[in-house]
Formats: sequence, structure tokens, C-alpha cells
Amino acid sequence: MKRNLAPAMVMHLAAAAIALIGLSTAAALAQEKTDVTFVHVNDVYRIAPAKGRGGLAKFATIVKQEKQKGGNVIVTHGGDSFSPSLLSGFDKGAHMVDMLNKVGMDAMVLGNHEFDFGPDITRQRIAEAKFPMLGANIRNDAGEAFPGTVPSVIKTAGPFKIGMFGLAHPETGTLSSPGAQWRFTDPIATARDMAASLRKQGADLIVALSHLGIDGDRALIAARTGIDIVLGGHDHDAIVFYDGRNAIIQAGEDGNYVGILRVSMWQKEKRGKMRFYWQPDFALRNTATVEADPDIASQVAVYEEKLSEALDVEIGETAVELDSRRATVRTQETGFANLIADAMRESVGADVALTNGGGIRGDRTYPPGSRLTRRDIQTELPFGNVTVKLAISGADLLAALENGLSQVEKKAGRFPHVAGMKVVYDPAAPAGSRVISVTIGGKPLDKNTTYTLATNDYIANGGDGYKVLKSAKVLIDKSAGTLLATTVMDYIAAKGKIAPRAEGRLQQK
Ligand SMILES: [Zn+2]
Repeated sequence: MKRNLAPAMVMHLAAAAIALIGLSTAAALAQEKTDVTFVHVNDVYRIAPAKGRGGLAKFATIVKQEKQKGGNVIVTHGGDSFSPSLLSGFDKGAHMVDMLNKVGMDAMVLGNHEFDFGPDITRQRIAEAKFPMLGANIRNDAGEAFPGTVPSVIKTAGPFKIGMFGLAHPETGTLSSPGAQWRFTDPIATARDMAASLRKQGADLIVALSHLGIDGDRALIAARTGIDIVLGGHDHDAIVFYDGRNAIIQAGEDGNYVGILRVSMWQKEKRGKMRFYWQPDFALRNTATVEADPDIASQVAVYEEKLSEALDVEIGETAVELDSRRATVRTQETGFANLIADAMRESVGADVALTNGGGIRGDRTYPPGSRLTRRDIQTELPFGNVTVKLAISGADLLAALENGLSQVEKKAGRFPHVAGMKVVYDPAAPAGSRVISVTIGGKPLDKNTTYTLATNDYIANGGDGYKVLKSAKVLIDKSAGTLLATTVMDYIAAKGKIAPRAEGRLQQK
């Protein structure tokens, strides 16, 4: 907190106002407004920019700019940063905490991804953080808080107190790996308790740092828990909301946008009592035109260099030739694509897997005996797609396969690669009726049976014409999933030696 006006200073200014415009003392005090600015990010997985946006160096510039204005600035994080990323695959998120320390945070709430490496690593990262980690609704059976978290933080801005607390996602137990010991309790009940307790401690403005997603945030507000402001996360959307009583801000993902919520606070006498008032002013800054902070950028570069070295480490050896050439992966079954589909299916424990050939980009062959590095896999799967899990009817799965096979003659990227099923098709039949038969687990596909499907978030969201996947029930979504490249790297590293072949999963008739 910088440049708070001392009470004496406030009186002095008030006196000047009286002299100038002749207001009464009480009225002059009532006009005295104090601003506090929240600079907010959430769901930041990478420290470097991509396509000119995001990353921590541009975020650091915005933090500095806001602080240079001289007001009260509170820098917040709505959760999800320790994972997933290629760097986190190596250091379990240690680089992220180090960089957030360097930017200078005031508070962060624990998102589901903060538990991806298990509760011991979460505890270690919290210990490394030089800023408070919040998560008031994380309890064990004894009612104890998660080690290292603090229940709340109170900041001062002029004559006002700002009480902040954190709410973790109630489904963190299924979205991540916090361990059976930790329960994520009802956010609404927790918010009610925390707001009451902070008011008792003299807080004027109550702020929830939330990783609930916008639906959870809206529910929080609708329940009238006593909070004023929600600084959110989890959705990856850029959102501002104000209904005259409560404000919500969420700042997209990866620092592409930085949320700025400036709150003007004042008090005024009403029916013989001093009452507290506030009003928000919002900005969502696109970081495309923001210069990177040179200090932070150079630290980011050190980590990027380490990543580059780590990517060159060998993870396994192929006993057979692998083929990722464009013309191959968009027209026929290949051993390499089968390997990817197998890794996806195994990683989420699904009945079947489906991924698009257009997502495989290496465009090369690897002779038998080739040693594969992480960089090879990263080059093959460069899009940052995430392995997700859906529950889908046999009828919709069939429709998805028809879409995948609908443009074989054009070598379209939608060409399907599968695991756990055998598909016989006629490429010469009209698009939409090319599939002749589908066998799953040795039995014909049943249109009325629900299957679990491992796929990537791009086609799950309707990409490459896979609109039908959008109506499937989501079991593991993008926010809870692992990077597809990491899925495949981990799979190869665990096996050491691989020999994936085309084995008749996709048969032309
Ligand atoms: Zn999340």
C-alpha cells in the first residue's frame, strides 16, 4: 500500500475545502473519496507472451503503471498457475511462484490446478510464495485450514479497511489431485462466515478472491453473503459485471488481458449514522500494446532457456518407423497417431479416444531406433491443446466419426485417429454415410449406449466440424485437463520403448 493519506492530512484537505467553498465540516468529510485499484489476473499458465500478448512481463508493466499513479494498489490472482505448462511438467510450478514473487502479488486464491501435483507440492509452493495464499473453504476432517493458507487479509486504503478472503472450487477434489484428506466446502456458507467475521474486524469493503467460475460467482452474489466484490477465475473469459450492488471481474487467461477494478470509496451521514459507499470503474486491458517490463522479461528468458534445454532430453525410443507426414495423418491410420490416441485414452481412463489428424504437425518420419525428445513431441503437438474426457452416446460418436471421414479426399485436418475402437468405412460413399461399422470392446457400437471418450479440447469445442461433440457431457474439461503434449510425453517416458503400428483400427472397404 503506498501513499495513504494520514488522517491529519485528510483533515487538512477538508479544512481547505471548507475555506474554499464554505461547506460544513461534516459535509466536506463526506465528499472525501478514497480509491483502491485491484490489478487482477487469473488462469495464467505461461510466463512468456504468445503472439504478442500475455505473460508476466507485460502484467508487471501494468502493475507498475498503476502504482506510479500513486494510489492504493492491490495485485491479485484468481487462481490456476502452478500447472499445466511445459515448464511445470519439469519443475511442478516452482518457476511460476518465483516469477509471481518477482512481479509482486498481494494475494492469490488456490485454483484447482494448484493441486495437480498432489497436496505436498501445493504446500511446498505455498511456502515459497512471498504473498498470502487464500482458500477459506479448504478444510480437513479436523476443521483445519490447508497448511500455509491464510484465512483472510485486511488492507487499508485511506480511512477504509478492505477485507479479502479466498474461495477454492468446490469440485477441486475431482478436477485435480488434492488428496482425500482435503474437503472443498460450500463456498456460499464460507463466504457468509468470512464476510461476517471481516465486518467484525472493521472491514468496510469485502472482497472474495474466487476460483469458482462465473456461475459460482453469480450464485455467491445472489445468495447475499455480505460480500461486495468478486475477483474471479477458472472460466478463462474476460468478464465484468455490476448490478449496482456487487461487482465481478475476471481477466481471461494467461495475462492476455489484465483486469483493473478501481473502487471509489466514501462515507456519508445518513439518518444520524456514517455509512460506507463505493462505486466501481472497470478496465480490461489488452496487453497486445503493453511493453514488457525489462527486468521481468529477462527473468522469463532465463526460464525459457532452461525449458529449451529440458525439451532436448530424450524420453524414449521407437522400435518401428513413425510417420507424422501431413498426407499420412490426414488420410489413414498410422502408428504414431495411434500412440497419441492410446496415450489420451489411458491418461483419462476412457472407453475410446478420438483425435484429429490436423493436430499432428511434425510432418516427418522417424526411422526405427530413433530416440524421441520432448521437443519432438512438442513439435508434433504444438497447439497447447488439452486432453479432455466426454460422455457421449453411440449415435453421437458415430456422427463424430462421419464428420472425421467426411473430407478424406481433401486431406482435411478432421481425419480421425482412434483408440479402443475399430472403424470400417467406405471413402467413396457420400459424406455423412461413409461409416460401415464401428466395434467397441469387441461389440458393435450401440447408438443408445453412453461411452466415455478421450479427445482434445479443440474438437470437443466443435473445431474441425466436430459440432456434435459440443453436446456431449463434459467429464474432464479444459480447465481440469493435461496438455495433450504432456499426455503423450508422459506416456512415452513411462514406456521407455515404443512400437506403435497401424493395426486395423481404421479399415477402408
Ligand atoms: Zn480452474
